[in-house]
Amino acid sequence: MPKLIVKKDKKKSLMLNIHRCQGCELCIVACPTGILEMSDRLNVRFANPPRVRAGKENSCQFCRRCELACPVWAIYVVEEKEDEGISKEEEGNVST
Ligand code: SF4
Ligand code: SF4
Repeated sequence: MPKLIVKKDKKKSLMLNIHRCQGCELCIVACPTGILEMSDRLNVRFANPPRVRAGKENSCQFCRRCELACPVWAIYVVEEKEDEGISKEEEGNVST
């Protein structure tokens, strides 16, 4: 499952199920920090899934508003367990 953002210090990640996304943009509207934008890639539904604006990955508050706005639960926040380990490479913005 692609991770849009991984924050090791907060032990949280923002996940995106790319092919479940229907491109409705509700997550973008709902995000209070305005860090999401539509990407130019197409998924299997011929929809454009969201991505994190370049350089804005540290502005995510993990508030879950995007998760609550998404009608198909394609974008959501997960709590990372200690033993799952987040690699140095994963930390920060993970492009999709
Ligand atoms: S968790 Fe909150 S701040 Fe982060 S992308 Fe979703 S709505 Fe925006
Ligand atoms: S709200 Fe969900 S379905 Fe709509 S664009 Fe965002 S991730 Fe995709």
